[in-house]
Amino acid sequence: MRTEAVDVAIVGGSLSGSATALLLLRGNPGLRVLVLEKSTAFSRRVGESTVEVSAYFLARVLGLTAFNNETQLSKQGMRFWFSRPGVEELVECSEIGGRYLTRIPAWQVDRSTLDEEVLTRARNAGATVLRGAKVRSVRLAAGGRQWLRVETDGESFNVEARWVVDASGFTTLLARQEGWLRSNREHPTTACWARWSGVTDLDGSDLTMRYPEWSQACCGIRATATNHLVGDGWWAWVIPLKGGETSVGVVFDQRRVRWPAGPEPLVHRLKSFLCAHPMGRALMQDAEPVAGDVHWRANLAYWSDRMAGDGFVLVGDAAGFIDPLYSPGMDWLSFTVSRAVDLILRSEAGEPVVPRVDRHNGDFTRSYRRWFDAVYRDKYSWLGDFELMQVGFRLDLGLYYIGVVSQPFQLGPKALQNPVFSLPASRIPQWIMRTYNRRLSRMADDRRRRGTFGRANARHRDLLMGFLPDRSSGPPLLRALARWLVLEVREGWRTWLPEPVRVGPVA
Ligand SMILES: Cc1cc2nc3c(=O)[nH]c(=O)nc-3n(C[C@H](O)[C@H](O)[C@H](O)COP(=O)(O)OP(=O)(O)OC[C@H]3O[C@@H](n4cnc5c(N)ncnc54)[C@H](O)[C@@H]3O)c2cc1C
Repeated sequence: MRTEAVDVAIVGGSLSGSATALLLLRGNPGLRVLVLEKSTAFSRRVGESTVEVSAYFLARVLGLTAFNNETQLSKQGMRFWFSRPGVEELVECSEIGGRYLTRIPAWQVDRSTLDEEVLTRARNAGATVLRGAKVRSVRLAAGGRQWLRVETDGESFNVEARWVVDASGFTTLLARQEGWLRSNREHPTTACWARWSGVTDLDGSDLTMRYPEWSQACCGIRATATNHLVGDGWWAWVIPLKGGETSVGVVFDQRRVRWPAGPEPLVHRLKSFLCAHPMGRALMQDAEPVAGDVHWRANLAYWSDRMAGDGFVLVGDAAGFIDPLYSPGMDWLSFTVSRAVDLILRSEAGEPVVPRVDRHNGDFTRSYRRWFDAVYRDKYSWLGDFELMQVGFRLDLGLYYIGVVSQPFQLGPKALQNPVFSLPASRIPQWIMRTYNRRLSRMADDRRRRGTFGRANARHRDLLMGFLPDRSSGPPLLRALARWLVLEVREGWRTWLPEPVRVGPVA
């Protein structure tokens, strides 16, 4: 069997793999980089909404501003639509979102075209790209040469490399093979999604004429935001794509939502689920699913116990995934890729690897745990309540801007080598986020007990002026903290004491 020798072999040529290849070759054009991608052409995939950090990475690090402006849609922030029993019309749904257009760039991306472009750029930079090449297994040797067994149409061969980059996404090739894969059982979420044609245009003339007051309330563009429908224990994304089709999917907490069972095809059940929400009904009434493009994925959250070693490194989804709410997937991708590239380039320059690998594992494991704990743990218990989200979303967004988005804009791309919550300075913001997220969850449970959950989910509108990655975000963030404190004084006191431990009857 033939063997190919390279410096770096990358498993997976989608965004994380191709970005790693491109940046490695930019840092050291002499490297022999081989990208092995099992698909022969990319299809659409989730990961369609960028946020400010991933948009920075795409634009300023990978250099895709012009490409994105020409081929993708400019994203207009996030909007949330709430409902409660008795609400029939979309205009009655309570709304949280921006009043104007956003000021920091982000895009709604069709990943089939984006990933193809980045892979082409990697090839043009000097990478060898093999399509239809599936990596069957990897033999790791710390500090030595790594061996990969590859299959293409009708041929098997070996690849010998100093470094293996696992960019295999949800397949998590190395983590599965080595037994490092951990399912995040504290966060049992499932997603179902499809792409659709004929989704209603929220800024079209029909709705403008029918609901002029509602239309005029927002001076920006609602339709190119990531619109979220929210309910108790679930949310749905509505992401428009260039060319007129729309990605729409639901994510739910399996502890709170029973997904409709039945003989109907999955895509029909998805549509019925969405249409139970008045905004979902308005958006989806004439929508038709794109044939063969409906998907289901259970237990979304997982991580790898090891993220790097002397000879391998995991990037993007191959290293872990938390939750799609707020679209952090490509932020994580930006951090893991930036740091992996630095690790390999330094190793190739002769710097000691082992201490960096130890730091790498520590930083990313800490980042994953703290990120999950601060932002996502039990989030689905309160995101369906307008008043709690008014407070929580403002705080989440304000702290993201001040603590995370500000970093690359102030320090440049090297800031992306420090994943969220990995630095000591992030301890206090992480504690604040963890605390208000826990408190909002307790208040949501208390509201449910008292029958007041979602009481402001109709006929309320909260249109934000937005945050910026500088000091100007300080006053609105302080106001958001003050809102939280007011909420605590008004109703939070009911849950200040720890919940009593319930002892069941002895059988
Ligand atoms: C429901 C849902 C919604 C999401 N929404 C968003 C969002 O709006 N915004 C956001 O930023 N993120 C989102 N994400 C996360 C986002 O999809 C991922 O973070 C991102 O796509 C990861 O890219 P990747 O390149 O690491 O992996 P992938 O895009 O999964 O690519 C992996 C590649 O590896 C290849 N491959 C796999 N195994 C092998 C093998 N053995 N040999 C060769 N090639 C192989 C595959 O063919 C594929 O091309 C979402 C995730 C989910 C589950």
